[in-house]
Amino acid sequence: MEIINIRGVDFCNVTLDEAADWVSSVLAAPSESPHAVFTPNSEIVQLCIEENEYYSLINSADLIIPDGIGVIKASRILGTPLKEKVAGIELGERTLAIAAEKGYSVYFLGAKPGVAEQAAANMQEKYPALTVAGIHDGYFKKEGEENEAVLAAIRAASPDVLYVCLGVPAQEKWIDANRAALGSVKLCLALGGSLDVWAGNVKRAPKLFIKLGLEWFYRLCCEPKRIGRMMKLPKFLFGTYAEKWKGRK
Ligand code: UDP
Repeated sequence: MEIINIRGVDFCNVTLDEAADWVSSVLAAPSESPHAVFTPNSEIVQLCIEENEYYSLINSADLIIPDGIGVIKASRILGTPLKEKVAGIELGERTLAIAAEKGYSVYFLGAKPGVAEQAAANMQEKYPALTVAGIHDGYFKKEGEENEAVLAAIRAASPDVLYVCLGVPAQEKWIDANRAALGSVKLCLALGGSLDVWAGNVKRAPKLFIKLGLEWFYRLCCEPKRIGRMMKLPKFLFGTYAEKWKGRK
């Protein structure tokens, strides 16, 4: 797989179809420890730029897909274009379809109590063959006894795929710290607010916004409190132009 480094993060240059093929091959092969998929957008790359210790965490995943139009724009500005934006939630759903078709089981970890249950019910309606081996909300202490109990519950359910939806960067940290203690899990996906969307609590932007690269704008209008986080986007793009300009000199 071709890796393209954008501002220090090693993105895989894949389309959604290619990422789904990678998921299929990982699930079909024996593996000693789970593979991890991270889906950074420009906000997360900017977090790495501002707090360098996040680079090794984010780059520790086996598949890193560009979940944001800002990253795609940056890749073009820098002259190393990535093929397309690959939304984590879309790869997450493709993985559910693969799991349903091939008989792999999934576990949903994250979101507020009741949300993962609703997400599971909705996705089982859409993919009737889907086996949801277990569910746990995301509001537990991420260390000590409470965390051990969550790990034990996951091992007991012995899923093939673990969806970790705790928000950024908590979910990446959790996967990194607990990857070796997940028993049968072959694949961990860090997927932010996906369970809220599948549960029907949060709507994704209309297709036109997604097509125009304006999903971020739609989210901002729906959740104005995200403005602080989203200020990282212009910072990221200005920084990218500055890097290009420096490179030219
Ligand atoms: N969340 C969680 N545990 C926490 C904090 C947050 O499970 O301790 C969940 C929250 O309920 C939401 C998701 O993490 O479902 C974060 O969603 P958001 O859309 O903010 O994702 P991000 O943009 O951070 O990836």
